[in-house]
Amino acid sequence: MNNALNATHDPALRSWVASANQAGCDFPIQNLPFGRFRPAGTGEPFRIGVAIGDQVLDLKATGLVHTDDMNVLMAKRPTERQALRAAISAGLAEGSEQAAEWAKALLAQSAVEMTVPCRIGDYTDFYTSVHHATTVGKQFRPDNPLLPNYKWVPIGYHGRASSIGVSGQRFRRPQGQTKAPDAAVPSFGPSKRLDYELELGWFVAQGNSQGESIGMDAAEAHLFGVTLFNDWSARDIQGWEYQPLGPFLSKNFASTVSPWLVTTEALAPFRVAFERPADDPQPLPYLDSETNRAQGAFSIELEVLLQTARMREAGEGPVRLSRTNTTRAAYWTPAQLIAHHTVNGCNLQPGDLLGSGTLSGPEASEAGSLMELTSGGKQPITLPNGEQRSFLADGDALIMRGWCERDGAARIGLGEVVGTVEPK
Ligand code: CA
Repeated sequence: MNNALNATHDPALRSWVASANQAGCDFPIQNLPFGRFRPAGTGEPFRIGVAIGDQVLDLKATGLVHTDDMNVLMAKRPTERQALRAAISAGLAEGSEQAAEWAKALLAQSAVEMTVPCRIGDYTDFYTSVHHATTVGKQFRPDNPLLPNYKWVPIGYHGRASSIGVSGQRFRRPQGQTKAPDAAVPSFGPSKRLDYELELGWFVAQGNSQGESIGMDAAEAHLFGVTLFNDWSARDIQGWEYQPLGPFLSKNFASTVSPWLVTTEALAPFRVAFERPADDPQPLPYLDSETNRAQGAFSIELEVLLQTARMREAGEGPVRLSRTNTTRAAYWTPAQLIAHHTVNGCNLQPGDLLGSGTLSGPEASEAGSLMELTSGGKQPITLPNGEQRSFLADGDALIMRGWCERDGAARIGLGEVVGTVEPK
C-alpha cells in the first residue's frame, strides 16, 4: 500500500532545484510526478522524466531506471515504486551528494515537448458524480433523472484510447447526426453543442490476470496515479445516439490528459474518509473495506477556465468557469472503481485509464460541464468581455487545473490540461 506518510512527504524538505521551493509551485520535491518528454523539435523517442520545479529530470540519466517505457515502470511492485520515489527524493533534496551529477540530467520544461504519460491500452469512463448524473439526467429524462442502479453500481462504459491526446491538443469540431426534439428526421453537420467534461484520469499500475478479481484490500496497489482529464463531448450527437447502448461518436473524437502523472503515494497527505449520506445505500461488501472508509477518497481542488479567441487576441487571460473539490463530487473512490471493474474477471493492464466521470459538486458554480452551467444551453454565460457561451465556439481554449493543499503538508499540483477547438 502506498497510503503511509514517509520522509518524501516531509513539508520541510527542500530541493537544490531552486524553482521547486517557490510558494505555489505545482512540482515541489514532495510531488515528483512522472511524464514522457523529449527535447522540443528533435523528434527523438520520448523518455521518462520527473517534474521538479520548472525543470524535468531525465530519469534514465540518473541511473535509477534502465527503461524508456513508462508502462514497464508502472507495472513494478508497490515496494519497488516506493523505493524509486525515495531515491528520486533523496537525489533531489538539498545537500544531496548527487546534485552535481543530476544537474546535468535536468532540462527546462519550457524546452521540452510532452506526450501522453504512458501507452494507454484501454480507457474506461465512469460517472462518479451523483450531482452530475442527477443534473444531466434531468435534461435527458425530466421524470426520471437518477436511474435506480446509480447508488449501487459504479456506472461506466468502455471508451476509446486512440483519440486521447496530451495537453496542448487541438482538434476539429466533430460532425455527425443530430436530431432536434421537434424535427421529424435527423440532420447532419458540425456539432452545435460541443462541451467539455472536468474529470480526473486514474491510471492502473500492475494489472490482473483474466478471470481474477482485484478485491478492495488489493485495489490500491493496482493504482499508479492521476492526471487531469478533459472528456470532450458533443451533446447534440450524444442526445440522438446514446440509447440504447450509451455514448459513442459523441465522446470518442478527442479526450485530453495533463502530461504529469501524480502518484497515489504523492497524494497520501490528501487522503480523506469515504463517506455516504446516512440515507443512501452503503456499498455492497465487494465495494467496501475499512481502509476505504477511513482514507479511500482524495481531496483534490479543481477549476475550469476558458479563453476565447477574442480574449487571446486582446491579450486577456482565461476566465474561471467553475471550481470544486473531488470530495464534494465523487460518489465512488478509485479503489472501488478498480474492484468493480475486475469483479467479473475483466483484466486491467498497466497504463489503462479510468476516467472519473464529470466531477460536479452540489452547487451550480461547481458544475464540471457547460451543459450544467448553462442548463442545457438555455441560460448562456456572459464572459467579462461581453461574449456569451452556451457551448464551446471555434477557437475556444479550455483549461483545467488541479492541486492539493492542507495545513501540515506541502502543496502539490497536477499542473494543467489545455485543449483548443478548431473549426470543422
Ligand atoms: Ca465523461
